[in-house]
Amino acid sequence: MIDFQPTEEQRLLQSTVRDYAREKLWPRAPHLDETGEFPWPAWREMGELGLLGMVVPQEYGGAGMSTVDYVLALEEVCWGCASTGVAMSVQNSLVEVPILKFGTLAQKSRYLPGLASGERVGCYCLTEPGSGSDAVAMKATCVKKGDRWILNGVKQFITNGPQADVAVVYATLDPALRSKGVCAFIVEKGFPGYRVGKVEHKMGLKGSSTSEILLEDCEVPEENLLGQEGRGFTVAMATLDGGRIGIATQAVGIARAAFDEALRYSQERKAFDQPIANFQAIQWKLADMATRIDASRLLIHRAARLRDQGENHSVESAMAKVFSSETAVWATNHAVQVHGGYGYIREFAVERLYRDAKICDLYEGTSEIQRLVVATNILKGNYRGAGG
Ligand SMILES: Cc1cc2nc3c(=O)[nH]c(=O)nc-3n(C[C@H](O)[C@H](O)[C@H](O)COP(=O)(O)OP(=O)(O)OC[C@H]3O[C@@H](n4cnc5c(N)ncnc54)[C@H](O)[C@@H]3O)c2cc1C
Repeated sequence: MIDFQPTEEQRLLQSTVRDYAREKLWPRAPHLDETGEFPWPAWREMGELGLLGMVVPQEYGGAGMSTVDYVLALEEVCWGCASTGVAMSVQNSLVEVPILKFGTLAQKSRYLPGLASGERVGCYCLTEPGSGSDAVAMKATCVKKGDRWILNGVKQFITNGPQADVAVVYATLDPALRSKGVCAFIVEKGFPGYRVGKVEHKMGLKGSSTSEILLEDCEVPEENLLGQEGRGFTVAMATLDGGRIGIATQAVGIARAAFDEALRYSQERKAFDQPIANFQAIQWKLADMATRIDASRLLIHRAARLRDQGENHSVESAMAKVFSSETAVWATNHAVQVHGGYGYIREFAVERLYRDAKICDLYEGTSEIQRLVVATNILKGNYRGAGG
């Protein structure tokens, strides 16, 4: 039995971050969308609020909170600004968690405090030009030479790439070994041979930076191997199980913002001498949006609770991600529709939200890959049923 009631502390966290998002993030989001600037002011504020190291234990400078706490806060940030939200999500889910889970004591002490405070920005480098969904087809190589690893390759579409001080990087001992050849490393931007490559221009999420990371005989000290040699694929997949909860949450934040805008507009805009909210066609859109957003959040909270209980949650994370992402794409489309022609105009937030939503069913595993994860587990008998 899963209890979805937030505690008093969780309600306080939620309302604090909600106020912050309303006052600071929502008003800044159009500027980030226009300019593509990285959200530095928000980054510093989130560091001070403890939002950049939420599940990192206090002994390493984090807030020592649960995954449920994390998703409650992240939804509010993503409601305010999806670009800011993904920077927060990558820092927490994709950089700190693997270091926390697979790092040595020395690695945790060296990297977690700076990341949790936001003093250092992190990124996660798995994708390559020729390998996304099929991550084990990676071509970036790692070779041990004395007390260092030498990394060569190109990592593609790396969120926070241009700003990152610390990168979790995957490379293979030999592409022919497939998953058994993958190693994970903690790489600092100052290590010789590490370079930021091409910066991408995107459809949406413009305040989130995305770039190549180039590894050219990049020298990594041997103590920066993360987890065991040849076990990096386990690090990558365990990280994505948690990361997908974060992206599902981002989708709900975006969808909720679109719903709020659609609701308000439908009560203000008049057609045929009455508010358009009087028309059943509009009411049903609002009803369906609210229903799908709530269902998405329930799936997310189930996955987050299982994670907090130390249970396997691959299926539940994948279900939450595919349903929430597709809800965000669907709900933002309907929110534009409720706005009529105005929904297509930059001045109206739904135009941005519509573009921001699409990324959710692409990154950290496309919707097709989430369905693959769910179906494979069902067929293997690993699906525990709707009761969670
Ligand atoms: C803005 C942005 C930010 C990103 N941030 C990061 C990041 O920080 N770190 C990082 O490592 N990566 C990042 N990515 C990469 C992202 O995770 C990949 O783009 C994604 O996993 C898909 O890989 P791909 O683009 O190579 O598509 P492909 O794998 O080439 O897929 C193309 C199509 O084929 C489908 N497909 C592939 N295999 C199957 C299959 N077995 N069954 C059914 N359909 C299949 C896919 O679903 C998709 O529709 C980011 C991408 C973007 C666009």
